Amino acid sequence: MPLKKTQSVLFVASECFPLIKTGGLADVVGALPIALAHAGTNVTVFLPGFPKVLAGIESARTLAKIKTSDGPPAKLISGTTASGLNIIALDAPQYFDIEGNPYLDDTGNDRPDNGAKYAYFSKVAADVALGKIGRKKYDILHAHDWQAGLCAAYVKASGTTKLRTILTIHNLAFQGRFPKFLMASLGLPTSYYSRNGLEYWDQVSFLKAGIMYSDHITTVSPTYALEIQSDDGGMGFGGLLRARSQSISGLLNGIDLDVWNPETDPEIYKSYSAENPKGKAGNKSALQKALKLRPDAKAPLFTVISRLTTQKGLDLLADMTDFIVAEGGQIALLGSGDSAIEDAFNAAAKKHPTEISVTIGYDEPLAHQLQAGADAIFIPSRFEPCGLTQLCAMRYGTVPIVGRVGGLNDTVIDASPMALANGAATGVQFAPVNAHMLYSAISRAFDLYSNPAQWNQIVTNCLNQNVGWETSAADYRDLYASL
Ligand code: ADP
Repeated sequence: MPLKKTQSVLFVASECFPLIKTGGLADVVGALPIALAHAGTNVTVFLPGFPKVLAGIESARTLAKIKTSDGPPAKLISGTTASGLNIIALDAPQYFDIEGNPYLDDTGNDRPDNGAKYAYFSKVAADVALGKIGRKKYDILHAHDWQAGLCAAYVKASGTTKLRTILTIHNLAFQGRFPKFLMASLGLPTSYYSRNGLEYWDQVSFLKAGIMYSDHITTVSPTYALEIQSDDGGMGFGGLLRARSQSISGLLNGIDLDVWNPETDPEIYKSYSAENPKGKAGNKSALQKALKLRPDAKAPLFTVISRLTTQKGLDLLADMTDFIVAEGGQIALLGSGDSAIEDAFNAAAKKHPTEISVTIGYDEPLAHQLQAGADAIFIPSRFEPCGLTQLCAMRYGTVPIVGRVGGLNDTVIDASPMALANGAATGVQFAPVNAHMLYSAISRAFDLYSNPAQWNQIVTNCLNQNVGWETSAADYRDLYASL
């Protein structure tokens, strides 16, 4: 029998945990290649050469020097990370020698060179995958989100049919839209600026380029794959995505079970597991102490670990803080984002200093401590492509209270009477996402918590949930093979 050929895949993405991260995209790009390696697929990750990325590459070597008229001088640096990822970084200091948020400047506005920068990034990535730079030709170019959206256009323009392209949409809200004058500097045929190409309402959209020119499109949960093909959830792309319906699949994200493991996590106060869950209570009391919350093992401690945006429905939650405190609950929040939401939570913490703790910022160790110490996590998202915090939460026996949208619908089993009776419940879902339904979901959570046997059953169900990558990695491998 002939041996099955091992596919070689180039991931193209702007973030990758643990090198550079602003959200779930980084987690996926950092974990999926390792799961794919176990499933028999070789992945190299192509990243922008941000200082943190270059510093995190071990045994770095220069793969190629790039001198072209349509971009700044640059080098390709290849190597591996401590976590075992194969990396190629585009070391172009003019574009990527920046600290802080990769997309936003210090005032919170889009960086002015985002269009030119990610076009260049995608062009070089396409040339690498095609074997025009470096010696290796790849079978699959797998682009992630708008930052890599143009890759498929460059591959198409090269005329090859050997290199297959996939776009994964992690969040349709980020569309990579730029003024049309950018088109002249992209080095693509002018005919690509059309309704069937990357033109979008008189602008250029990098995400639309990915949607139109990729051989296949995936997104990160089955429910979101349907939502983005609707007029409501399509954010302007619903019709285009419906037209490509035969080439869209929704493959659920997982999390890295080594990074998120309450048995071995060095960041948390006490280790625990499904078999031996007692340590979770120790994490709660240590967290209450560290955050200067009233020490009380019986007060339900809710957490939020999130971008503070209306997508995440946290404006709705900000209005519920008095109610939660009146019912005897506590809140520990970590996140940053819209200033109105930050202000509302800061005011609530000032009003209830022993019951509400607010940390504005990004803090990886604290995120782990919150997941380990809290009883429940709020994710009242208005839309949620997949969501990773509910998966991390379940891994840590923290019960998710979620809007019934996207991947939250696919990964959390609502504590309905039937699910409770069957011992299947892993959380609380509510729909539609509005203040009224969030209020009733919170009331339901208090009710469930007041019955310790019932609550402990839900916690155990969460701890036993399979939230890793194994199943989806096999699905991606099969998808690559089918292309
Ligand atoms: P997003 O839409 O932001 O990508 P996800 O739920 O898919 O949301 O992924 C968010 C990831 O970022 C999770 O790993 C979560 O723990 C992490 N995260 C979000 N906000 C913070 C923060 N302020 N500090 C530390 N980690 C955070």
